[in-house]
Amino acid sequence: MSAEIIYGRELSNNIRERMTDEVAELKKLDVIPQLTVIIVGNDPASLSYVRGKEKASNSIGMDSNLIELPEDTNQEKLLELIHELNVDPSVHGILVQLPLPDHINEDVVIETITPEKDVDGFHPVNIGRMMAEKDTFLPCTPLGILTMLKEKNITIEGKHAVVLGRSRIVGKPIGQILLNENATVTYCHSRTHNLKEMTKQADILIVAVGKPGFVTGDYVKEGATVIDVGINRIDDGSLTGDVDFESAKEHAAYITPVPRGVGPMTITMLLQNTIKAARQLNEISQRS
Ligand code: NDP
Repeated sequence: MSAEIIYGRELSNNIRERMTDEVAELKKLDVIPQLTVIIVGNDPASLSYVRGKEKASNSIGMDSNLIELPEDTNQEKLLELIHELNVDPSVHGILVQLPLPDHINEDVVIETITPEKDVDGFHPVNIGRMMAEKDTFLPCTPLGILTMLKEKNITIEGKHAVVLGRSRIVGKPIGQILLNENATVTYCHSRTHNLKEMTKQADILIVAVGKPGFVTGDYVKEGATVIDVGINRIDDGSLTGDVDFESAKEHAAYITPVPRGVGPMTITMLLQNTIKAARQLNEISQRS
């Protein structure tokens, strides 16, 4: 068997086309969805991510504002800025690029963003709402994965989803989201025994460990859906996932590549969350 490859980039392009129309409609109501991204310091990888977010926002007609602060910005100053953005009616989404310098407490920063503008979905209130199955901003990477599964009509209900990795931004939330969709969910992490026995039971295998080629074909059940979240830069400078694509695709029914898989979906979901925030803050009902 050789798997069908799920190209997140193609799905993303389709979704962005729909969002371009949606933004144009909102503009007619004098609402221009606006994402403000704050970056502290000049880490090249982070700078490249935030510029990508700015470019993507503009490509669908949204406004964006990139605020670049020096590395030595103190926490109080950053919190003050967030408080101002929280009450600025032209701002609908606020994102603080992580990681922050060591002298700034990331949890305090995340908790200062008003949950109504927390388009990253990291605020504890929004995490709680996700657990309680209430409407919320789902974190972008997990939401991108869910969207990919749905767009491909892959059944989630009743399936066994195994999540490899339990980070706050990927592993934990995607497990919760799949549970909300009625999957049976198993979490695995660095202390899990007999990992391969676990992953081989997965109908849907989500891999987010941050180790290049960690999951090989012998970890994959025949006919499984394999979602590779990993983005690892290897010695030759290229990007590779956490899954050994060549061997895994011989067992899977569906598989995502790296690059062009989950990554492009993440930014698209950030735009989607910002449009959703703009609608909610202006009391315009969501598009069905
Ligand atoms: P973290 O480093 O925060 O978490 C890694 C997880 O993998 C941890 O839960 C860890 O377990 C687990 N793990 C590590 N080693 C093993 C092992 N040998 N066996 C089993 N489990 C293991 O990573 P993130 O979740 O932030 O990111 C994961 C990957 O996804 C990275 O490559 C990252 O770059 C990528 N990523 C991609 C995104 C996208 O848009 N496509 C977005 C975000 C991340 P423990 O908790 O026990 O330490």
